[in-house]
Amino acid sequence: MNEHKILIIGGGPAGMETAYQLKKLGLKPVIIERSDKLGGHLAQWDRLFPASDDAEALLEKMREQCIDIEKRLNTRITNITKENNIFHVSLSNGNSYDADAIVLCTGFDLFKAERKQEYGYGIYNNVITNAELEHYFKTHNDERINEPKKIGFVHCVGSRDVKVNNTYCSKVCCATALKQACEIKEEFPDSDVYCFYMDLRMFGKGYEDLYLKAQKDFDIKCVRGRVCEVSENIEGKLVIKAEDTLLGTPMKMTLDLLVLMCGMEKASGIERIQNMLNIKSNADGFIETRDTFYGLNHTKEEGVFVAGACTSPKTLPDTIAEARAAAVEVFNYLKDNGQQTFSLRF
Ligand code: SF4
Repeated sequence: MNEHKILIIGGGPAGMETAYQLKKLGLKPVIIERSDKLGGHLAQWDRLFPASDDAEALLEKMREQCIDIEKRLNTRITNITKENNIFHVSLSNGNSYDADAIVLCTGFDLFKAERKQEYGYGIYNNVITNAELEHYFKTHNDERINEPKKIGFVHCVGSRDVKVNNTYCSKVCCATALKQACEIKEEFPDSDVYCFYMDLRMFGKGYEDLYLKAQKDFDIKCVRGRVCEVSENIEGKLVIKAEDTLLGTPMKMTLDLLVLMCGMEKASGIERIQNMLNIKSNADGFIETRDTFYGLNHTKEEGVFVAGACTSPKTLPDTIAEARAAAVEVFNYLKDNGQQTFSLRF
């Protein structure tokens, strides 16, 4: 049995899948997670696009796969040094590890909706975020969602937006919007639901079917145009102004509920760990990878690997695929460096 420890920083889907695959390869992963449970954003989600799969079932499967894997919850990294290809990692609980490799799986933060003041989040009660709507689907406990008759979804909140310095696409929010639009229509069949988009990016397997289903089966109205202003009338309803960019006409609409599709941003606090490891950020603020093709799981620092949305916005299937690839890359790195002292048994 080898004693090479691989430290996985972050216990979301990328961290859990990387750890599981490393374990299957005969290595000893240790997951370090700052919160009190594994799961990351997936733990907040109810159903997953494109086919409305149960998020809890997927999460349970991932947690089950990690049951025998060493983990440290409620734990932060306090210091990392490197000597002779070994990382000495100190933790907030006073423990420390010597690791042959580190995999950063630190994920992302959702864009903070209050930064786009024009949408009225935090000002008007019935402006909510995609994460809050998902929480409602999971718990049915949100007094702001009270038999709405007219509902709007605003795409690209905090993404593709030079004003907040995020020019990239967050990849998942078009499909999430259409999934949530169908679900809210299922819940409130008499409502009218509108999606305000710049352009719909439905690129993955099953996404086109979701787009067609949203229009044909649920009568979701997709309006190409950007909402530019939200206010409230004396009845407490939201009044939005937008431009229909296909027709070239300004629009004004009264709504009962507005859902902001907040995109992904780099995880808070990640710079601290990047500084310890001497790892840079890319132009979008996420962790820089070694290159765009064969180096997607590598950083420029030997022995430090990456997986998931810490390097750019990613869907869940892409995150899982990247985590599996990261495990193979770690395995090959140890083998190439003569650090692997065991043989695989099939
Ligand atoms: S996925 Fe859609 S909503 Fe999200 S940033 Fe890209 S274009 Fe905008």
